[in-house]
Amino acid sequence: MSYIEPAPIKDSENPFESMMSRFEMASNTLGLDEEIYNVLKTPAKQVVVSLPITMDDGSIRVFEGYRVIHSNILGPSKGGVRFDMAVNLDEVKALAAWMTWKCAVVDIPYGGAKGGVKCNPREMSPGEIERLVRAYTLSMIEIFGPDRDIPAPDMGSGPREMAWMMDEFSRAQGTTTNAVVTGKPLVLGGSLGRVEATGRGVMVSALAAMEKLQINPYQATCAVQGFGNVGSYAALLLEERGLKVTAISDISGAYYNKEGINIADAIRYRDSHDGRLEGFEQAESIPQEDLLTLEVDVLVPAAMEDVINVENAEKIKAKLIVEGANGPTSAKADAIINKNGIMVAPDILANAGGVTVSYFEWVQNRLGYKWTGERVNRRSDRIMKDAFEKVYQTSLEYKVPMRISAYIVAIDKVAKTYKWRGGF
Ligand code: GLU
Repeated sequence: MSYIEPAPIKDSENPFESMMSRFEMASNTLGLDEEIYNVLKTPAKQVVVSLPITMDDGSIRVFEGYRVIHSNILGPSKGGVRFDMAVNLDEVKALAAWMTWKCAVVDIPYGGAKGGVKCNPREMSPGEIERLVRAYTLSMIEIFGPDRDIPAPDMGSGPREMAWMMDEFSRAQGTTTNAVVTGKPLVLGGSLGRVEATGRGVMVSALAAMEKLQINPYQATCAVQGFGNVGSYAALLLEERGLKVTAISDISGAYYNKEGINIADAIRYRDSHDGRLEGFEQAESIPQEDLLTLEVDVLVPAAMEDVINVENAEKIKAKLIVEGANGPTSAKADAIINKNGIMVAPDILANAGGVTVSYFEWVQNRLGYKWTGERVNRRSDRIMKDAFEKVYQTSLEYKVPMRISAYIVAIDKVAKTYKWRGGF
């Protein structure tokens, strides 16, 4: 075993470098063979496509689409497709690698992938989005497949987009193939519990961590950044388990109420106000960046990458950070958070509830059978709790923070599988 020279940690905006620096740290702690390190450090496949779309006004716009398969060592690759202006190849590469580690941490038989289209869906009509989703799917017809690569929702996509992907893929194959994509509407073979699955997994991870820290949920406060699918369900379920959610936020701003925000009301408000919290009156409006440094017990970043960084890490007062988003903490901020004794339930563990229920959806599609919501929740809660315990015990064993132990658990599994399968 030779020592792998870690890349210099920059507090960069580049999530791929952030991912790599943790991967290198964990590889060194684990004593990973350099050969396997080299296999895992680069994505297995990267596809970039140009998608010319006729807009409603008759003009043609060309969008750039990506799909990166980081690894298919554990099984068919799995991961969402993001529709956002910030999408770029480096980001998709990082997100694809995170999917590999995430699936390995929760021990489901998938490799990791991610896709994205650089666009602003908020400024596009449903018809334009539909044409873009169908064009993207067709351009990936050789890549996608229930035994090859299985897309799912991510930022800017949801059940509607998954329905179009499933339909376009099925048309091209000439057979209805619902197991090609997860996160579908229920009537198309979606799974009960999938919509709330990521937020639910965040809640399960938060409670498991609070038990270790001996924080009583009924006396705890919480701030949630991001009020999309992940943040809103995480907030709702944490509130249900006794926490007082004192702050929430979305792109319109941050909202604070020291008595606690009624999350069901906030969700109703968002749903009747164009998907935004703007003007939500049950809480006072505070600057976005203040949410992260509030005096709370639990902080849930559930929006986007690199929001916790060297600028604000020192000011964080929470005792526990539960990462609903992918890559919300920059690599350099890790050191500050660790120094200050803040526990982190890292992204590849805490937000793995979504892909876990995606796996259940795929299993149900292949069985031609439907599970009850109760069965889905029971099984996913168990997977999340077991994964948390494994990562926690590994952190004690190696005397490393939870983030690094999560990578250790994941890398160890993928490396062992690779050894058994062998290379060329
Ligand atoms: N996009 C989600 C994630 O980042 C879900 C992926 C999936 O279900 O395949 O975990």
